[in-house]
Amino acid sequence: MALIVQKFGGTSVGDAQRIRSVADHVATTRAAGNEVVVVVSAMGQFTDELVKLADGVSPTRTAREMDMLLTAGERISMALMSMALGAVGVESASFTGSQAGIITDTRHTRAKILEMRPDRIREALDDGLVPVVAGFQGVSTERDITTLGRGGSDVTAVALAAALKADVCEIYTDVAGVFSADPHVVPRARRLEKVSFDEMMEISATGGRVLMLRSVEFARRHHVPIHVRSSFTWKPGTWIVEEDPTMEEAIVSAITDDTSEAKITVAGVPDRPGVAAALFRELADAGINVDMIVQNTSAHAVTDISFTVAKTDLDAAMAACRRVQKSIGAETVSSDDNIGRVTIVGGGMKSSPGVTALMFETLSLHGINIEMISTSSIRLSCVIRADRVAEAVRHLHSAFGLDAE
Ligand code: ASP
Ligand code: MG
Repeated sequence: MALIVQKFGGTSVGDAQRIRSVADHVATTRAAGNEVVVVVSAMGQFTDELVKLADGVSPTRTAREMDMLLTAGERISMALMSMALGAVGVESASFTGSQAGIITDTRHTRAKILEMRPDRIREALDDGLVPVVAGFQGVSTERDITTLGRGGSDVTAVALAAALKADVCEIYTDVAGVFSADPHVVPRARRLEKVSFDEMMEISATGGRVLMLRSVEFARRHHVPIHVRSSFTWKPGTWIVEEDPTMEEAIVSAITDDTSEAKITVAGVPDRPGVAAALFRELADAGINVDMIVQNTSAHAVTDISFTVAKTDLDAAMAACRRVQKSIGAETVSSDDNIGRVTIVGGGMKSSPGVTALMFETLSLHGINIEMISTSSIRLSCVIRADRVAEAVRHLHSAFGLDAE
């Protein structure tokens, strides 16, 4: 008998019929002799609808009330799911994040899990019930309701799987698994059977939209195997697991694309110690995540620093730069939100020379200019014009031999 955490995303529970079909699947999993814990997202685009409602009543709502509002979406799903399970003869009970013992810090709208106390979930399992847990939410050390950031139901599922020592965390979605590229961009993309945690971290961090990055970090840290699969076909999808040292890894497994970031350039700053420190301290204190950074070589003791931030943070980041512009002696601060990023990811890259050259040659062959470059041992990213991103992904997908027959 296995313990399986099954998480269903918004489209998987999008309407009554979808919820009934999920209930059937849970019943089948139970009938096969497994213990099941269900985690649900809000139905369809319901979270976005709630955000719109908030926009309509106040531009300055507090993060605490935002969390109160947004957690309602998952509460609706959990109650409906529990009822649907009852209708197919599966005894169950629903639990909010707080009831499920998900204790977070106090950072509303982007809370981090501090501790898991899933006693009530364990008890429900021992009583033969299927616990249905509302994703995306917890309760803070100040006893307020918090949310884990958009897409956070994935984190709920992985955290519960880790705390309950589940055998697998199944993430059900509307795609068949993790692909070698976004199938909307590359029609010849292939489903990957197996991806290592490290590769999946890079895929999620650079635009792969299947799993929230933090859930992958959590799974890697707690050794929770994830199985990403479709709730429309119920076919096996992609396993995200520990790297298998006995197996030769693909040099490049996936190409990702991302147009959610913008570039800021702080130009004409003196080339001396302390300048970058002052700039990035100001950004950090404003709570802004900086992604790629390049500093141009200086000709006459002045230099340009460019970096990328999420477009949603652009205004706040520009304001932070302007606050320090004078004190660091920068000539200008400018931004560009027409950039995009293409990335190649592969565990085998670290031992294969020539990958970088092939990526640059492929882009150059198609007249695509590279504006910024960043690397890790298993990833290579280039910032290019946003309107060239889709074709760049397709060309790279072919160049690295990933196209399906
Ligand atoms: N409903 C939340 C969102 O839309 C959480 C989730 O779906 O994972 O972000
Ligand atoms: Mg999601």
